Amino acid sequence: MSQYEYTLPLMPKSATLIDPHGRQIKYIRVSVTDRCDLRCNYCMPKGFNDFQEPEDWLNFDETTRIIAAFARLGATQVRLTGGEPLVRQHFPQLVKQITAIPELTDLSLSTNATRLAKQAADLKQAGIERINVSLDTLNPDKFKQITQGKLQKVLDGLQAARLAGIQPIKINMVVMKGVNDNEVPDMVNYCIENNFTLRFIETMPMGDTGREATNQYLSLQVVRQQLEKQFELIPTQMKGGGPARYYHIANTNVNIGFITPISQHFCETCNRVRLTVDGTLHLCLGQEHSYPLRELLREGISDTELEQHIIKAIALKPENHEFSDNPTKLVRFMSQTGG
Ligand code: SAM
Ligand code: SF4
Repeated sequence: MSQYEYTLPLMPKSATLIDPHGRQIKYIRVSVTDRCDLRCNYCMPKGFNDFQEPEDWLNFDETTRIIAAFARLGATQVRLTGGEPLVRQHFPQLVKQITAIPELTDLSLSTNATRLAKQAADLKQAGIERINVSLDTLNPDKFKQITQGKLQKVLDGLQAARLAGIQPIKINMVVMKGVNDNEVPDMVNYCIENNFTLRFIETMPMGDTGREATNQYLSLQVVRQQLEKQFELIPTQMKGGGPARYYHIANTNVNIGFITPISQHFCETCNRVRLTVDGTLHLCLGQEHSYPLRELLREGISDTELEQHIIKAIALKPENHEFSDNPTKLVRFMSQTGG
C-alpha cells in the first residue's frame, strides 16, 4: 500500500476543484517531457542532453486518464508544454487522445517551434487550435546566444503553423535588460506584419538558470511605458488570455499582453495546476506543494479514487508564489515544471 493510499471521504463533484482560497481550477498545464532541443539561458540547465524516455514517465494512456479525470471534475482547458513538447516521440498521437475527451473546450500548445515546420499540419489535424511560441529576438546571432539554436527554424515553423490554419498564434518574448529590451518595437512590428499576438514575460527565478538570469530582470511596467510613446495601447480582453493583461494596438489587428509574475503578481485569479511528465501534480509554479499520481495509477486505483486524489491535491494549493520574497526557494527548473 502506498503512502498516498488513504481512505478518502466521498465529496460531491459539484463542490470539486475549488481550492482553499476560493479559486475554481479549470486549467491543467501538462508537461509531456522535460527535454528540449534549445538551451534558453533563463530556463534549461547547461549540459542537460538526454532524449531517452524513462520508465517513470507517464505514458499517453496514463496522461490522458489523468486529464479525463480533471475534465469530469470540471476542468475545461488543457495546455501541452514541456520542455519542448515536439521532441516527445509520437506527440500528435497524445493530442488525438486528449482531443477525444468530451468535456474539454480548449486544447493549446506551447512550443519553441523548431520542429513545427514538419509537424504543424499533423498537429492541427490532431486537434491543436492555437499555439504559443517562444521567440525572444529576431536577430540570428542573438538567438544563438540566448538559445544555442537557429532562428530560421523557428521562423519557418511559425509560417508552417499559419499555413496549417492554427489561429491564434501567440509569441512569448521574455524581455531581458541589456539583452533584447532594445528589440521590443521590432518584435511588435513583426507581430503586426504577421498578425501574431505578442506577450511579454518577466524573468522568473526558477531553478539555478532562472536565478542567474534575474540580473537581466526588467519590469514590464517600464516596457509598457516605453511602448506607449510609439503605439496607442487600448486596454482589452482576450479569450484564453490567462494571466496576461492585454492591450489592443490602435489601427492594427494585433493585441499585446504583459505577463508580470514579479512586478504585479496575479495569484488571486490563478485557475491552474501543472502535471509533470513523471506524474506529479504541482499546485503552484512558484512553490513546492505537490501530489504524486503515477504510483497510484500503476497500483491500479479506480477512476473514482483518482478523482478523489485530485480533489485532495487541489486542497493543497497555496495562496501565492514567493518569487519576490523568497527567490532562492525554488529548485525546480521551468523546463521541468512546464511553463
Ligand atoms: N519549450 C516551449 C517554449 O519554449 O515555449 C514550452 C516550455 S517553456 C518552459 C514555456 C515558457 O516558459 C516559454 O515561453 C519560456 O520563455 C518561459 N520561461 C522559461 N523559463 C523562464 C524563466 N526563468 N522566466 C520566465 N519565463 C520563462
Ligand atoms: Fe526549451 Fe522552452 Fe526552456 Fe527554451 S524556454 S529551453 S525552448 S523549454
